[in-house]
Amino acid sequence: MNKKTVRDIDVNGKRALVRVDLNVPIDKQTGEILDDTRIRAALPTIDYLRARHAKVVLVSHLGRPDGKVVESARLAPVAARLSELLDAPVAYARDVVGEDAKRVVAAMQPGDVALLENVRFEPGEEKNDDALAQQLAQFGDLYVNDAFGTAHRAHASTAGVAKYLPAVAGFLMEKEIDYLGRVVSDPEPPVAAIIGGAKISSKIGVLQHLLSKVSVLLIGGGMASTFLKAQGKDVGASLVEDDQLETARSIMAEAERRGVALGLPADAVVADRFAEEAEAKTVDVDSVPDGWMILDVGPKTIADYEKKLSGMKTVVWNGPLGVAEWDAFAEGSRAIARWLAGSGATVVIGGGETVALVQELGLAERYAHVSTGGGASLEFLEGRELPGVAALDDR
Ligand code: ADP
Ligand code: MG
Repeated sequence: MNKKTVRDIDVNGKRALVRVDLNVPIDKQTGEILDDTRIRAALPTIDYLRARHAKVVLVSHLGRPDGKVVESARLAPVAARLSELLDAPVAYARDVVGEDAKRVVAAMQPGDVALLENVRFEPGEEKNDDALAQQLAQFGDLYVNDAFGTAHRAHASTAGVAKYLPAVAGFLMEKEIDYLGRVVSDPEPPVAAIIGGAKISSKIGVLQHLLSKVSVLLIGGGMASTFLKAQGKDVGASLVEDDQLETARSIMAEAERRGVALGLPADAVVADRFAEEAEAKTVDVDSVPDGWMILDVGPKTIADYEKKLSGMKTVVWNGPLGVAEWDAFAEGSRAIARWLAGSGATVVIGGGETVALVQELGLAERYAHVSTGGGASLEFLEGRELPGVAALDDR
């Protein structure tokens, strides 16, 4: 990575302002944290800084309070859980850059950890307001960005603040950029991409960018129906983006021109309506019954995709192959997830739903990298520069 990390600067005894992504799901009624994965993911950088006697001032957002104080979006439960995980006190400020935050930071001793209030309570955060960036910068001698999940947004705490302090990446950020960066710029060939999910329109950038990098491109999910329709097939009541038929055709033509093996479903699990308990059956894609819709790939497609994936050294996967949140339409995605886990390829997985799927299967540890940032990993795979990364100091 061409950006500096916490290892590249002297953090000893310094005040480190650390942007982390502690945006965990919280039960609105009970205030209970439903999944603390993101808090755990922030620990290595915090531990590293504490071990070097830094004062660790954490900044995070939670939910979408849209620039005002929302009681249910306070970070108090996160501070409590973080304290448990660190087995150390975490001083929690009731505001972001106000009197309480100033008091909390001023009272810190080397090795202490403090958590500022939800940074999105500040109207300047999402506007990347310069005054807020400067106020945040007052709390640090250096800035560490470890929040990969928000690195695709130029906000005051993810980009603006980096102007005012030495700015480096934390370990989580470093790992994300290393793995995703290698996939887009220097992958071990041959490379395959599996792109699924609901819509072509949300994955068009990644499809186009990866086409120039891969030998194999496998299409699944809702967007496969648009490709099939573009080939002249009758896909019944499947989700089709009619305004993307031309896009689908141009991607197919580009794949052909580049000699990329493009995989489209040969068979599908179809349903009589869009519902978890819909009636389902498996058919070839040229015989989707009237009024039925494609909700997963079928067994022939899975076998074909596994064959196309054999021998691949690098595989990047974004987007489930079917409506994987419903058991009846999850088998295509699950089968590919299992197959990849045993493939020996360097597998990099991104995308909110795709990551949830491999975690549910208990397979996340079996891949080279499972990205913590849905939108950020997608933009990275589109070849776009992430503002939160660009703002960090070059090595
Ligand atoms: P990710 O979060 O991994 O990037 P997306 O958000 O692009 O993935 O897509 C996931 C969504 O796509 C899921 O909500 C899933 O229900 C939907 N989906 C997948 N296959 C189909 C399909 N055949 N028809 C309709 N929706 C689908
Ligand atoms: Mg999603």
